[in-house]
Amino acid sequence: MEKYDAIVVGAGTAGCLAAKTVAEAGLKVCLVESKPREEIGEKICGDALGEHHLKFLGLEKPTGGELEAKIDGIKIFSPDENTIFTIADKDFIGYLLNRRLFGQWLLRKAVDAGATLQDSTTLRSPIIEKGAVVGITAKNLKSGNVSELRSKVVVDATGYFGMVRKQLPAEMGIDRDIANEDVEACYREIRQLKQETENTRYCEIYLNQKASPGGYVWIFPKGGARVNVGIGTCMRKTGYPNPKEQLYKTTFCKPMFEGSTVLAAGSWFDPVRRPLDNMVGNGVMLVGDAASLVNPIHGGGIGPSMLSGYFAGQQIAEALSKGEPTREALWGYNKRYIDTYGKKQGTLDIFKLFLLSCSDEDLNYGMNQKLMTEDDVLKAGMGDDFHLNITETAKRVFRGIRRVGFLNKLRLTVVMMRQLSAHYNTYPSTPDGFDTWRAQTVKLIEEGKQKLLQ
Ligand SMILES: Cc1cc2nc3c(=O)[nH]c(=O)nc-3n(C[C@H](O)[C@H](O)[C@H](O)COP(=O)(O)OP(=O)(O)OC[C@H]3O[C@@H](n4cnc5c(N)ncnc54)[C@H](O)[C@@H]3O)c2cc1C
Repeated sequence: MEKYDAIVVGAGTAGCLAAKTVAEAGLKVCLVESKPREEIGEKICGDALGEHHLKFLGLEKPTGGELEAKIDGIKIFSPDENTIFTIADKDFIGYLLNRRLFGQWLLRKAVDAGATLQDSTTLRSPIIEKGAVVGITAKNLKSGNVSELRSKVVVDATGYFGMVRKQLPAEMGIDRDIANEDVEACYREIRQLKQETENTRYCEIYLNQKASPGGYVWIFPKGGARVNVGIGTCMRKTGYPNPKEQLYKTTFCKPMFEGSTVLAAGSWFDPVRRPLDNMVGNGVMLVGDAASLVNPIHGGGIGPSMLSGYFAGQQIAEALSKGEPTREALWGYNKRYIDTYGKKQGTLDIFKLFLLSCSDEDLNYGMNQKLMTEDDVLKAGMGDDFHLNITETAKRVFRGIRRVGFLNKLRLTVVMMRQLSAHYNTYPSTPDGFDTWRAQTVKLIEEGKQKLLQ
């Protein structure tokens, strides 16, 4: 029986980066994917990616068919569409990707580095012996054969459903379930327009709490008079509208869609919350959507998923060079991810609660009267502290005199984000102290829910 150093389950953006990094360290890695090779990369997605993610990972700019358009920034429309925030930065370059070709590009990098691909092969279950994951059973979808694959580490890169994660025993100390209220139900189409729109350089985001509570409608230009258009709605306990119906009702009535044709359509889920507090166990790691590594505000997860795959791969190499891949030996991955990107995701979970607490009227007024500014949104998006000085606070109080509640909520949000950010700075370097850290995290998030949503 083949024995690998690592098995990576799922050849999405997270899995390809994990497999590539492990293979580059000279280790033996198998990438197991249920899709046939030529379909790897296909994904219901907005297809937008900031160039900085590639730079950080040392990946060159995509230049072939995987790159469909370049973007200068984002325009955010208030619910009444009377106010538009233009979020752009001189250093920002955005890409609209051909998702399948981008996936194939990453897959080639993993295979060229030495990873073995087993495509058309689906995970059945992790093999667990003496409290550690030591391999998987998988079914070849062409032959129907079920076989065992053994490894020192298994990486769950299966995306939103976390197929390995869900089957781990509770004693591993990894959360198995993601609450529905932390997930956006999405519907997306790629449309061919009759003619190119005026805007080909900005991604457009439309806030509308009735149609897409806690989420938004997006229209992203893809070049060649094509757009990626979709909607995400938070799956709240109290109910949420059907995303497809809402997209048709609110968006396809716009003149730009007259005579347009549907090139692709589909639904999927986006987990929008803080990262799982712990992403490792004995012989097992979680990356990408399987670990909930998506930005809670804009739902972007391609960058963080690649980053997590890269960090996980490095940690595997380090752990195996020293001995057994125990929870302790793999823990550095948690710390590295949290310090680099996870902390930002965590604090944005609070900003998401603030947005969820706002009515359309709040957002119209708040954006129009500049109680919330482009700069706030930019800083929140970058994970920076947005501090209001006394003069700025006084100006906003004056402008917000008719909506003091909104301003108070914004101020409370800033305070809670800062508290959570400071707490993330204390993420433990070893599993010791984790239980106490986690209890405090849960407490801070619960406080945020109580203060902002009730
Ligand atoms: C509608 C929508 C729009 C989005 N828009 C954007 C955007 O514009 N920009 C952005 O950055 N992010 C966006 N995201 C988020 C982004 O798509 C994800 O965060 C990212 O793709 C996560 O990558 P991943 O590799 O973790 O998971 P996935 O891309 O989901 O890959 C998982 C892989 O695992 C395979 N797999 C699953 N189960 C098994 C199994 N049992 N056995 C073997 N293989 C298996 C799947 O076939 C798949 O190839 C969007 C998400 C949605 C839903």
